[in-house]
Amino acid sequence: MLKRLEEKDFLCLLERIAERWQLLVPQRMSDGSRLLLPWQGGLPVLAGPPLQRKPTEVFFPQLELLLELDDAGGVALPNPPEKPPALLGLDHLDLAGIAFLDRFFLSPPTDDAYLRRRRGALLVGVSGLAGAQGETLPPLEGECDLELILAPDGLLAHPHTARGTELLEGFAEAAPDKLAALDRNATELLPEILLKAARLLQEERVPEDFWEEIAARCIACGGCNFACPTCSCFGVQDRTFGKRTERSRLWDSCQLDAFMREASGHNPLGTETLRTRRRIYHKLVADPLRWGEPGCVACGRCDRACPTGIGMFALCEELVRTCDRHGS
Ligand code: SF4
Ligand code: SF4
Repeated sequence: MLKRLEEKDFLCLLERIAERWQLLVPQRMSDGSRLLLPWQGGLPVLAGPPLQRKPTEVFFPQLELLLELDDAGGVALPNPPEKPPALLGLDHLDLAGIAFLDRFFLSPPTDDAYLRRRRGALLVGVSGLAGAQGETLPPLEGECDLELILAPDGLLAHPHTARGTELLEGFAEAAPDKLAALDRNATELLPEILLKAARLLQEERVPEDFWEEIAARCIACGGCNFACPTCSCFGVQDRTFGKRTERSRLWDSCQLDAFMREASGHNPLGTETLRTRRRIYHKLVADPLRWGEPGCVACGRCDRACPTGIGMFALCEELVRTCDRHGS
C-alpha cells in the first residue's frame, strides 16, 4: 500500500531501519558526487548524480578476509557483521547490478563470503524525480524491499516485501493518484546503442582491426573493471604474520596482463587486444548466453572511470560506427 512520508515520518523510518540494520545512505561530497555512507542522523540526499561507487562493493568489497590459519592447522572464519547492511537510495541500475551479482555468487556452488555479507540485507530503492537534473527515474519492480518515490508534492513509499510493509506500518496512506503526475513506465535496461553493439558482436560482424585500434588506447589501469557493479573476478592471496596466515581475496581486472597468465608463462590473453575484446564479449555475448541477460546494466561507471575514453558506451558507439563504415 502506498504511503505518504512527511519529513518526520522519513526520519522515523530511518530510525526504524537503523535499529535492525547497519544503515548506509547517500550523502553529498564536497565535489558534488554522492556516496553511500553510514547514516548519522539527518536526511539522506535521495536525488542527484548516480552513486559514485558501485553499491555491490558492500557485498563484494575490494579486499576481503576469507579465513585465518594458525600454525597448528586451525582455521577461523571471520565473524559475520553485527547487523546486516541496509542500502538506501538505490536506483534501478544499482538494483540490477546487485541482482546480477546475487545470481552469480549465490547460484550453486554458493560463495560463502558473499552470502555472509548479503544475508539479511535490506534494499531500499528510489524512483521518481531523483535524477541528476531532476529527471524521472523509472519505477522499481520488486528488486528491493521498499521503494521511495520522489513525487512533485512530497515523498511516497511503496513496499515490495513483507519487511518493507512492516517498516511502513503506522504511516499515513497516500491516494494512488499521487503517482499520476509521474512517468511510471518501465524502461529497457540497455539503451539502443548497447543493444546494437551486442547484436553485431553476437553475429561476429566486428572487424579484427577494430579491437587493435581500441586496445592501443588502453593503459591497463583496471579502472573499468573496478568501477563496474557486475564485475566479479578476484584473486586470492595469503599473507603470513608470525604464526598466523590471513587468506584474502582482492578484485582482479581482465584488462591486466597477469589476469590469465599461467605459472608456465603461457598467457591465453597475452595481448591488450585479446583482453579488451574479451571484456566486451564477456558482458555482451557470454553473459547473455549463460544468464539470459547481459553482464552490463548500462550504469556508465566504466565510461566515467576510463582515462582514455573506451568505457562501454564510448566503445559501443565506435563499434557501431566502424561496422556501419565497413558495411558489416
Ligand atoms: S556500463 Fe560499464 S560499469 Fe556499468 S555495468 Fe556496463 S560495463 Fe559495467
Ligand atoms: S579503464 Fe580504460 S584504460 Fe583503464 S583498463 Fe579499462 S579500458 Fe583500459
